[in-house]
Amino acid sequence: EPAVSIRGLSKSYGKTEVLHGIDLEIARGATTCLIGPSGSGKSTLLRCIAFLEEATGGTIHVNGRPLGFEERPDGKRVRLGPQRIREVRSGIGMVFQQFNLWPHMTALGNVTEALVTVRRLSRKNAEERGMAQLRHVGLEARAHHYPSELSGGQQQRVAIARALALEPKILLFDEPTASLDPELTGEVLNVMRKLGEEGMTMVVVTHEIGFAATVGQRIAFLDHGRILLNGTPGEVFSDP
Ligand code: ADP
Ligand code: ADP
Repeated sequence: EPAVSIRGLSKSYGKTEVLHGIDLEIARGATTCLIGPSGSGKSTLLRCIAFLEEATGGTIHVNGRPLGFEERPDGKRVRLGPQRIREVRSGIGMVFQQFNLWPHMTALGNVTEALVTVRRLSRKNAEERGMAQLRHVGLEARAHHYPSELSGGQQQRVAIARALALEPKILLFDEPTASLDPELTGEVLNVMRKLGEEGMTMVVVTHEIGFAATVGQRIAFLDHGRILLNGTPGEVFSDP
């Protein structure tokens, strides 16, 4: 069973449809890269998988469970209740282009905040788990620094640690290196490569074709709201 199964997904903003009936399966334990020109719908598709956007048609299943909407036997598409939506969403983590760290909290504070307020861990347990995740991204020594005291690459690694601390089954990345200087891109891609090797299921929107070709096991190429190519890097990047 795939980690995520997307069927006939469409998304409109007002009268403009930007995703046209996407069918896509995200393999478990693999890194899937979404590539394609700017405006082709990559970010919208990712945000639908995170349920930050509500698709206007079709369904998404995460580990076999419907996310947000399900199709009844009579073909009617119905919205699920908030509790069922929360349960399925809680297995999905997301990392953004703009790291979205809280500026008034340290690295450790950023990583532990949701563990305390949402997951109801004690401060002590949250900090143990938070330090373990900061160690995982190579930032244990920066735990008590504020975002303004960290490089962009370090801030993005904190954002990755924050997502990991919630123990997601699937981790989504929306152009995670697009706002970094080139010399800081590598440290973030290396952390992502390591997560991939550890078997994390990841979906990465990226313009880093070298990363997609070497770390991506599946590549989906979008254009104008449709998937034009979907396969292994060898299949997608080979000259016709
Ligand atoms: P990509 O990530 O491939 O650059 P996007 O998913 O950001 O593409 O955008 C796909 C299309 O949807 C673009 O035409 C964009 O202008 C449009 N779009 C994205 N977000 C919105 C929004 N909130 N309201 C209206 N149009 C949007
Ligand atoms: P990305 O390609 O990463 O989505 P954009 O610069 O296209 O980056 O979009 C940044 C934000 O603006 C997103 O939240 C997106 O939903 C929104 N957006 C993009 N295009 C439009 C649009 N045509 N109208 C309204 N909002 C938009």
